[in-house]
Amino acid sequence: PYVPGKPINEVKRELGLTEVIKLASNENPYGPAPKAKEAMVKTIGNVQLYPDGRAYELKEVLAKYYNLNMNQIIVGNGSDEIIKLLSEAFLEAGDNIVQAEPTFSEYEFGALLMGAEVKKVPLKDYTHDLEGLWQAIDEKTKLVYICNPNNPTGTIIDEKALLAFLAKLPQGVIVVLDEAYAEYVTTQAYPDSIKLIESYPVLILRTFSKIYALAGLRVGYGLGTEELISLLEKAREPFNVNLLGQVAAVASLQDVTYKENSQAKNKQARELFYLECEKRNISYVKSETNFVLMGVKDADSAFKGLLQRGVIVRSGSVFGLPQHLRVSLGTPNEMAKFWHAFDEMEVK
Ligand code: PLP
Repeated sequence: PYVPGKPINEVKRELGLTEVIKLASNENPYGPAPKAKEAMVKTIGNVQLYPDGRAYELKEVLAKYYNLNMNQIIVGNGSDEIIKLLSEAFLEAGDNIVQAEPTFSEYEFGALLMGAEVKKVPLKDYTHDLEGLWQAIDEKTKLVYICNPNNPTGTIIDEKALLAFLAKLPQGVIVVLDEAYAEYVTTQAYPDSIKLIESYPVLILRTFSKIYALAGLRVGYGLGTEELISLLEKAREPFNVNLLGQVAAVASLQDVTYKENSQAKNKQARELFYLECEKRNISYVKSETNFVLMGVKDADSAFKGLLQRGVIVRSGSVFGLPQHLRVSLGTPNEMAKFWHAFDEMEVK
């Protein structure tokens, strides 16, 4: 089973705390866009109705946004669901997937569920080792996952490196580009992956859970060729995306100011986080996302010490990084609380 970041109420209950902050699941701390909230309030009285099973309006705005055809889009109950659909549509016992290690754990989950093998290629300098991934591909490989930016390291593969990798890909392999954090990337060399859809066998995953702050509603989507999307559609449940999620997602996409504000605030928080690390002589991995991997002596002790002080982060141990914490970037107030708790701890 997936090991999620600890929920706030569970920590309050277990430790008898009244004030707890969560910097563990890379959520947007500023909450949904005002227009999304308005749309949800307007729709709340209609939830006796099933949602539009084809998510027509959402696909229509996404198609405009990306300049794609609506049949090139599949909407899911979070991008998690699309990872499961990919697994169901393309994997069976005897097949394998190729992925980095550590990376987002749902790729492995989907493969194991279908009885497929998972070939893991260690990161190099906290980044995908594309040469290693390429070498791991064999005749049984159906899916290659590239989490870009990578969770839990926050690093990216640039366009040039990605294109070189795609150019030598053997036939019959689909490359899944998981871009859950794309909107937070500030480096210019980040791939413009949408334009690759027509030339390479790629499926792009994006989500409303991160910058659009709708994690609790579960809306993600996949972009690819019509042919690829139609294969995924065969495995999709009819009413997989709920009504409030659909209207909130449509409104969020139209609230450009909200997105730009979130981007600016995140960039500021990220730079401040680096400065705070540097002040304390703490190592960190430069991130293109809304979380940062920071060095500690013992991740599990640091995780527990912070938890006792009402701050939930992710211990790197779950990712095979026992000397790192993954810290989601919160509001300035939350980050002040984090550093206050961190400085109080003896073992860190
Ligand atoms: N992909 C990556 C890299 C993630 O980090 C996450 C969530 O943390 C997801 C996908 C899943 O997102 P969703 O909420 O859309 O299922």
